[in-house]
Amino acid sequence: MAGWGTFGDQNGTRANKGWVEENGVPCFVFSDQPTRVRFLTQDITTEDIMSQKKISREEAEDHIHTKLSQDVWIFPKSYWEHSIPSIPNKRFFSTVHCDGKSRCELCAENDVAKGNGVSENKLLPFSVRRRFAIPVWVYDLKMVLYVRGAEGFFNDVATYIGKHGSAIDFDIFKKGKGFDTTYHSIFDGKSEEILPEGLHVISPRELSFSIPHDEIRRRVDGGPAKEESKSAPKSELKNEPDPKPEAKVETRAAEPETKVESKEFTIPFGTHKGKTFDQLVKDGNGEYIKFIAENSAGEVQKKAKEFLGIA
Ligand SMILES: [Zn+2]
Repeated sequence: MAGWGTFGDQNGTRANKGWVEENGVPCFVFSDQPTRVRFLTQDITTEDIMSQKKISREEAEDHIHTKLSQDVWIFPKSYWEHSIPSIPNKRFFSTVHCDGKSRCELCAENDVAKGNGVSENKLLPFSVRRRFAIPVWVYDLKMVLYVRGAEGFFNDVATYIGKHGSAIDFDIFKKGKGFDTTYHSIFDGKSEEILPEGLHVISPRELSFSIPHDEIRRRVDGGPAKEESKSAPKSELKNEPDPKPEAKVETRAAEPETKVESKEFTIPFGTHKGKTFDQLVKDGNGEYIKFIAENSAGEVQKKAKEFLGIA
């Protein structure tokens, strides 16, 4: 394999066909088209460890979870991720890996909101969710990529691997768009192809999607990825938002016009920045309007109260 350590730089994310780089780790990008993959896990059972090490079931399970699974891919690695709300006309919903233990800079911003009385995860500026990652062999690309996903997606896969072992293939794909996106796998049967020898796989212990501070800020505040503005031909930049209006959107001080009806009013900050109250209600986040009405100030609070009919 022409080493995948040679592409891209360490800053930011470079989009490629079928994958994206995160902290130097090539990550699988789901598309509507099913992609055939094999999960690069080893089939090690509790019973194997019990007889190998002559230890009890409890000790064997403990050994697998705390030691072995750090060095060998037995099941997906879990990690934390912050959700970054979308900015309309600027960028989509984004995410950032969270170091959890050491508390990252977005955790720190969440703490400020908590200090102001926000107690629900989903109402935090950068809500946290548990994610999982695992290496796969992607047949089309002839590459090892890391698939990231929620527990539900991997539970489906686990059902088949538990039954047939790891040497099986799946077609993985997504359905829908934006917040309605769902991720799926179809069991394809026993792997027919022999994988290349000596595949380079990052150990679970070493796998990390931590990105530099600058890139975290870029995702939070919006703006094009460095590589895109640097290397993409001009013709491909046509669909990129014009940098000038962008700068305007970024100005937090821009007060909404008082003439705007509360219905059309867009929230200028926080988790649901850029959304109208109507959209929030539609998305099932109506509680947030109440939260704003009670906890914010000025025009925003006024509009929220108007919308709720408690002005
Ligand atoms: Zn964090």
